[in-house]
Amino acid sequence: MEEQMKEWLEPYSTTDYKTSTFETMQEQAKEWLDQGKVDLFLGYKMVQGHPLPHFFKKDNLDEVDDLIFGQARYSLEKIATKIAAEHPEMKIGLLVRDCNQRALNVLYVWNQLNPDNMETINVNCCPSKLKKHADCSYLEPEKYGSYKKMVGIDNNMEVEAAEEFSQEERYNRWLYEFQKCLKCYGCRDICPVCFCKECSLEHPDLIATGSIPPEVPIFHLVRAVHMGGRCIDCGLCEDACPSDIPLRLLYRKVSETVEDVFGYKTGTHTDQSPFNLLGDEVTLEPKPL
Ligand code: SF4
Ligand code: SF4
Repeated sequence: MEEQMKEWLEPYSTTDYKTSTFETMQEQAKEWLDQGKVDLFLGYKMVQGHPLPHFFKKDNLDEVDDLIFGQARYSLEKIATKIAAEHPEMKIGLLVRDCNQRALNVLYVWNQLNPDNMETINVNCCPSKLKKHADCSYLEPEKYGSYKKMVGIDNNMEVEAAEEFSQEERYNRWLYEFQKCLKCYGCRDICPVCFCKECSLEHPDLIATGSIPPEVPIFHLVRAVHMGGRCIDCGLCEDACPSDIPLRLLYRKVSETVEDVFGYKTGTHTDQSPFNLLGDEVTLEPKPL
Protein backbone atom coordinates (compact mmCIF):
# COMPACT_ATOMS: atom_id res chain seq x y z
CA MET A 1 0.00 0.00 0.00
CA GLU A 2 2.75 2.47 0.99
CA GLU A 3 4.58 1.75 -2.25
CA GLN A 4 1.45 2.32 -4.29
CA MET A 5 0.75 5.58 -2.51
CA LYS A 6 4.20 6.82 -3.36
CA GLU A 7 3.48 6.40 -7.07
CA TRP A 8 1.01 9.27 -7.10
CA LEU A 9 1.85 12.23 -4.98
CA GLU A 10 -0.18 15.07 -6.30
CA PRO A 11 -3.91 14.64 -6.24
CA TYR A 12 -5.63 17.96 -6.50
CA SER A 13 -9.18 19.13 -6.53
CA THR A 14 -10.82 21.40 -9.05
CA THR A 15 -13.60 22.10 -6.59
CA ASP A 16 -13.27 23.83 -3.22
CA TYR A 17 -10.18 22.12 -1.96
CA LYS A 18 -6.54 21.95 -2.72
CA THR A 19 -5.08 18.67 -1.63
CA SER A 20 -1.53 17.52 -1.82
CA THR A 21 -1.40 14.11 -0.21
CA PHE A 22 -3.19 10.84 -0.17
CA GLU A 23 -4.45 11.52 3.34
CA THR A 24 -6.00 14.86 2.42
CA MET A 25 -7.72 13.20 -0.53
CA GLN A 26 -9.29 10.72 1.87
CA GLU A 27 -10.19 13.54 4.28
CA GLN A 28 -11.88 15.43 1.49
CA ALA A 29 -13.98 12.43 0.44
CA LYS A 30 -14.89 11.79 4.07
CA GLU A 31 -15.93 15.38 4.60
CA TRP A 32 -18.14 15.41 1.52
CA LEU A 33 -19.83 12.20 2.64
CA ASP A 34 -20.18 13.35 6.22
CA GLN A 35 -21.67 16.72 5.23
CA GLY A 36 -24.02 15.12 2.70
CA LYS A 37 -22.36 16.94 -0.18
CA VAL A 38 -22.20 13.57 -1.92
CA ASP A 39 -24.27 10.45 -1.33
CA LEU A 40 -21.49 8.16 -2.40
CA PHE A 41 -17.89 8.50 -3.48
CA LEU A 42 -16.51 6.41 -6.32
CA GLY A 43 -12.83 5.57 -6.14
CA TYR A 44 -10.57 2.58 -5.72
CA LYS A 45 -10.03 0.12 -2.93
CA MET A 46 -7.42 -2.60 -2.75
CA VAL A 47 -9.17 -5.99 -2.71
CA GLN A 48 -6.97 -9.06 -2.37
CA GLY A 49 -4.04 -7.22 -3.91
CA HIS A 50 -6.01 -5.61 -6.74
CA PRO A 51 -7.15 -1.98 -6.88
CA LEU A 52 -10.84 -2.23 -7.78
CA PRO A 53 -13.59 0.36 -8.24
CA HIS A 54 -15.45 0.87 -5.03
CA PHE A 55 -18.10 3.20 -3.76
CA PHE A 56 -17.68 4.61 -0.31
CA LYS A 57 -20.70 5.62 1.73
CA LYS A 58 -21.49 7.74 4.75
CA ASP A 59 -22.61 4.82 6.85
CA ASN A 60 -19.08 3.40 6.72
CA LEU A 61 -16.84 6.47 6.88
CA ASP A 62 -13.88 4.58 8.32
CA GLU A 63 -13.68 2.63 5.09
CA VAL A 64 -12.64 5.83 3.29
CA ASP A 65 -9.20 5.29 4.84
CA ASP A 66 -8.91 2.51 2.23
CA LEU A 67 -9.51 4.93 -0.67
CA ILE A 68 -6.53 4.68 -3.02
CA PHE A 69 -5.55 5.14 -6.60
CA GLY A 70 -2.77 3.61 -8.64
CA GLN A 71 -2.07 2.56 -12.17
CA ALA A 72 -5.26 0.53 -12.63
CA ARG A 73 -7.91 2.35 -14.64
CA TYR A 74 -11.63 1.74 -14.86
CA SER A 75 -14.31 3.97 -16.28
CA LEU A 76 -15.58 5.20 -12.94
CA GLU A 77 -17.60 7.80 -14.83
CA LYS A 78 -19.38 5.02 -16.73
CA ILE A 79 -20.34 3.47 -13.40
CA ALA A 80 -21.51 6.92 -12.27
CA THR A 81 -23.61 7.23 -15.42
CA LYS A 82 -25.37 3.95 -14.73
CA ILE A 83 -26.02 4.95 -11.11
CA ALA A 84 -27.33 8.38 -12.20
CA ALA A 85 -29.67 6.76 -14.72
CA GLU A 86 -31.31 4.82 -11.88
CA HIS A 87 -31.07 7.59 -9.28
CA PRO A 88 -31.03 10.97 -11.05
CA GLU A 89 -31.02 12.98 -7.81
CA MET A 90 -28.04 11.19 -6.31
CA LYS A 91 -24.95 13.32 -5.60
CA ILE A 92 -21.86 11.47 -6.68
CA GLY A 93 -18.25 12.09 -5.75
CA LEU A 94 -15.61 10.80 -8.12
CA LEU A 95 -11.88 10.36 -8.28
CA VAL A 96 -10.86 11.50 -11.75
CA ARG A 97 -7.76 11.48 -13.87
CA ASP A 98 -7.41 13.75 -16.90
CA CYS A 99 -9.03 11.11 -19.12
CA ASN A 100 -11.93 10.65 -16.69
CA GLN A 101 -12.45 14.42 -16.69
CA ARG A 102 -12.59 14.54 -20.49
CA ALA A 103 -15.12 11.71 -20.44
CA LEU A 104 -17.15 13.56 -17.80
CA ASN A 105 -17.21 16.62 -20.06
CA VAL A 106 -18.60 14.53 -22.91
CA LEU A 107 -21.17 12.91 -20.61
CA TYR A 108 -22.29 16.38 -19.46
CA VAL A 109 -22.58 17.55 -23.08
CA TRP A 110 -24.77 14.54 -23.87
CA ASN A 111 -26.90 14.91 -20.73
CA GLN A 112 -25.83 11.57 -19.34
CA LEU A 113 -24.66 13.16 -16.10
CA ASN A 114 -25.70 16.37 -14.38
CA PRO A 115 -22.61 18.41 -13.42
CA ASP A 116 -24.59 19.94 -10.52
CA ASN A 117 -24.73 16.49 -8.95
CA MET A 118 -21.04 15.72 -9.32
CA GLU A 119 -18.04 16.52 -7.14
CA THR A 120 -14.59 15.53 -8.30
CA ILE A 121 -11.18 15.06 -6.84
CA ASN A 122 -8.88 15.39 -9.81
CA VAL A 123 -5.69 13.40 -9.87
CA ASN A 124 -2.75 14.87 -11.66
CA CYS A 125 -1.53 11.61 -13.11
CA CYS A 126 0.01 12.55 -16.42
CA PRO A 127 3.64 13.37 -15.97
CA SER A 128 4.63 11.58 -19.15
CA LYS A 129 5.98 12.94 -22.40
CA LEU A 130 2.59 12.02 -23.81
CA LYS A 131 0.96 14.77 -21.82
CA LYS A 132 0.02 16.56 -25.00
CA HIS A 133 -2.59 13.87 -25.44
CA ALA A 134 -3.23 13.94 -21.70
CA ASP A 135 -2.24 10.31 -21.84
CA CYS A 136 -1.41 8.22 -18.85
CA SER A 137 1.08 5.67 -17.66
CA TYR A 138 -0.75 2.95 -19.58
CA LEU A 139 1.15 4.13 -22.61
CA GLU A 140 4.54 2.90 -21.58
CA PRO A 141 5.01 1.75 -25.14
CA GLU A 142 4.95 -1.98 -25.56
CA LYS A 143 7.24 -3.54 -28.10
CA TYR A 144 5.44 -5.25 -30.94
CA GLY A 145 6.66 -8.27 -32.83
CA SER A 146 8.33 -8.09 -36.20
CA TYR A 147 5.41 -9.79 -37.99
CA LYS A 148 2.92 -7.20 -36.82
CA LYS A 149 5.32 -4.46 -37.83
CA MET A 150 5.63 -6.05 -41.25
CA VAL A 151 1.95 -6.57 -42.03
CA GLY A 152 -0.04 -4.67 -39.43
CA ILE A 153 -0.07 -1.39 -37.58
CA ASP A 154 2.22 -0.63 -34.67
CA ASN A 155 -0.09 0.48 -31.84
CA ASN A 156 2.39 3.17 -30.85
CA MET A 157 2.28 4.93 -34.18
CA GLU A 158 1.19 8.52 -34.46
CA VAL A 159 -1.50 9.27 -37.03
CA GLU A 160 0.99 11.05 -39.29
CA ALA A 161 3.32 8.05 -39.34
CA ALA A 162 0.48 5.65 -40.19
CA GLU A 163 -0.51 7.94 -43.05
CA GLU A 164 2.90 7.58 -44.63
CA PHE A 165 1.96 4.13 -45.92
CA SER A 166 0.53 4.17 -49.42
CA GLN A 167 -3.25 4.01 -49.49
CA GLU A 168 -3.23 0.38 -50.61
CA GLU A 169 -0.70 -0.68 -48.00
CA ARG A 170 -2.55 1.18 -45.27
CA TYR A 171 -5.79 -0.52 -46.29
CA ASN A 172 -4.18 -3.96 -46.23
CA ARG A 173 -2.56 -3.33 -42.87
CA TRP A 174 -5.84 -2.26 -41.32
CA LEU A 175 -7.56 -5.30 -42.81
CA TYR A 176 -4.96 -7.48 -41.12
CA GLU A 177 -5.74 -5.80 -37.81
CA PHE A 178 -9.52 -5.93 -38.21
CA GLN A 179 -9.44 -9.61 -39.12
CA LYS A 180 -8.11 -10.39 -35.66
CA CYS A 181 -11.32 -9.07 -34.07
CA LEU A 182 -13.15 -11.59 -31.86
CA LYS A 183 -16.33 -9.51 -31.66
CA CYS A 184 -16.13 -9.58 -27.89
CA TYR A 185 -17.47 -6.00 -27.63
CA GLY A 186 -14.87 -5.29 -24.95
CA CYS A 187 -13.94 -2.03 -26.70
CA ARG A 188 -17.53 -0.84 -26.53
CA ASP A 189 -18.27 -2.11 -23.06
CA ILE A 190 -15.26 -0.45 -21.43
CA CYS A 191 -15.67 2.85 -23.29
CA PRO A 192 -16.71 5.62 -20.87
CA VAL A 193 -18.58 7.51 -23.58
CA CYS A 194 -20.46 4.58 -25.15
CA PHE A 195 -23.89 5.09 -23.63
CA CYS A 196 -26.42 4.36 -26.41
CA LYS A 197 -29.11 1.93 -25.30
CA GLU A 198 -29.35 0.53 -28.81
CA CYS A 199 -25.92 -0.21 -30.28
CA SER A 200 -25.16 0.17 -33.99
CA LEU A 201 -22.64 -2.66 -33.69
CA GLU A 202 -25.47 -5.10 -33.03
CA HIS A 203 -27.83 -3.82 -35.68
CA PRO A 204 -28.19 -6.39 -38.48
CA ASP A 205 -29.11 -3.69 -41.02
CA LEU A 206 -25.73 -2.08 -40.48
CA ILE A 207 -23.45 -5.04 -39.86
CA ALA A 208 -23.94 -8.60 -41.05
CA THR A 209 -24.26 -11.06 -38.18
CA GLY A 210 -23.14 -14.63 -37.64
CA SER A 211 -19.44 -14.37 -38.35
CA ILE A 212 -16.18 -13.92 -36.53
CA PRO A 213 -14.41 -11.73 -37.30
CA PRO A 214 -17.36 -9.41 -37.67
CA GLU A 215 -17.89 -7.95 -41.13
CA VAL A 216 -14.56 -6.44 -42.18
CA PRO A 217 -14.02 -3.49 -42.23
CA ILE A 218 -17.61 -2.33 -41.59
CA PHE A 219 -17.78 -3.30 -37.91
CA HIS A 220 -14.78 -1.13 -37.08
CA LEU A 221 -15.69 1.71 -39.38
CA VAL A 222 -19.20 1.93 -37.90
CA ARG A 223 -17.71 2.22 -34.44
CA ALA A 224 -15.05 4.69 -35.58
CA VAL A 225 -17.63 6.99 -37.16
CA HIS A 226 -19.80 6.67 -34.09
CA MET A 227 -16.93 7.88 -31.90
CA GLY A 228 -16.69 11.19 -33.77
CA GLY A 229 -17.19 13.96 -31.20
CA ARG A 230 -17.26 11.38 -28.40
CA CYS A 231 -13.88 9.68 -28.17
CA ILE A 232 -11.71 11.32 -25.54
CA ASP A 233 -8.59 9.30 -26.32
CA CYS A 234 -8.40 7.41 -23.04
CA GLY A 235 -7.16 4.23 -24.69
CA LEU A 236 -9.27 1.93 -22.52
CA CYS A 237 -10.70 0.22 -25.61
CA GLU A 238 -7.25 -0.73 -26.80
CA ASP A 239 -6.28 -1.73 -23.29
CA ALA A 240 -9.26 -4.09 -23.18
CA CYS A 241 -8.88 -5.49 -26.71
CA PRO A 242 -7.63 -9.09 -26.54
CA SER A 243 -6.42 -8.83 -30.14
CA ASP A 244 -4.25 -5.74 -29.71
CA ILE A 245 -5.99 -3.89 -32.52
CA PRO A 246 -4.71 -0.29 -32.60
CA LEU A 247 -8.15 1.16 -31.93
CA ARG A 248 -6.87 4.31 -30.31
CA LEU A 249 -4.98 5.31 -33.42
CA LEU A 250 -8.08 4.79 -35.53
CA TYR A 251 -10.22 6.95 -33.27
CA ARG A 252 -7.51 9.59 -33.03
CA LYS A 253 -7.78 10.01 -36.77
CA VAL A 254 -11.55 10.45 -36.42
CA SER A 255 -11.04 13.04 -33.67
CA GLU A 256 -8.51 14.91 -35.78
CA THR A 257 -11.04 15.08 -38.59
CA VAL A 258 -13.71 16.38 -36.21
CA GLU A 259 -11.29 19.03 -34.99
CA ASP A 260 -10.28 20.02 -38.53
CA VAL A 261 -13.85 20.27 -39.80
CA PHE A 262 -15.64 21.68 -36.77
CA GLY A 263 -12.83 23.15 -34.66
CA TYR A 264 -14.16 20.95 -31.85
CA LYS A 265 -11.71 19.28 -29.49
CA THR A 266 -13.68 16.50 -27.88
CA GLY A 267 -13.76 16.36 -24.11
CA THR A 268 -11.89 19.56 -23.42
CA HIS A 269 -14.98 21.55 -22.44
CA THR A 270 -18.69 21.18 -21.83
CA ASP A 271 -19.96 23.34 -24.70
CA GLN A 272 -22.38 21.80 -27.13
CA SER A 273 -20.83 19.35 -29.55
CA PRO A 274 -21.39 19.87 -33.29
CA PHE A 275 -23.06 16.45 -33.14
CA ASN A 276 -25.68 17.52 -30.59
CA LEU A 277 -27.94 18.37 -33.51
CA LEU A 278 -28.52 14.61 -33.76
CA GLY A 279 -30.44 14.87 -30.49
CA ASP A 280 -30.18 12.85 -27.28
CA GLU A 281 -32.34 10.06 -28.58
CA VAL A 282 -30.42 8.20 -31.20
CA THR A 283 -32.64 5.95 -33.25
CA LEU A 284 -31.80 3.30 -35.75
CA GLU A 285 -35.16 3.53 -37.44
CA PRO A 286 -34.61 4.07 -41.17
CA LYS A 287 -35.50 7.63 -42.15
CA PRO A 288 -36.42 8.87 -45.64
CA LEU A 289 -33.67 11.01 -47.15
S1 SF4 B 1 -10.16 5.77 -26.55
FE1 SF4 B 1 -11.58 4.03 -26.81
S2 SF4 B 1 -12.50 3.70 -24.76
FE2 SF4 B 1 -11.56 5.76 -24.75
S3 SF4 B 1 -13.22 7.15 -25.35
FE3 SF4 B 1 -12.13 6.61 -27.23
S4 SF4 B 1 -13.27 4.87 -28.05
FE4 SF4 B 1 -13.89 5.09 -25.91
S1 SF4 C 1 -12.20 -5.41 -28.00
FE1 SF4 C 1 -10.97 -5.94 -29.83
S2 SF4 C 1 -11.55 -8.04 -30.29
FE2 SF4 C 1 -13.15 -7.23 -28.93
S3 SF4 C 1 -14.74 -6.39 -30.33
FE3 SF4 C 1 -13.38 -4.70 -29.82
S4 SF4 C 1 -11.83 -4.68 -31.46
FE4 SF4 C 1 -12.86 -6.70 -31.55
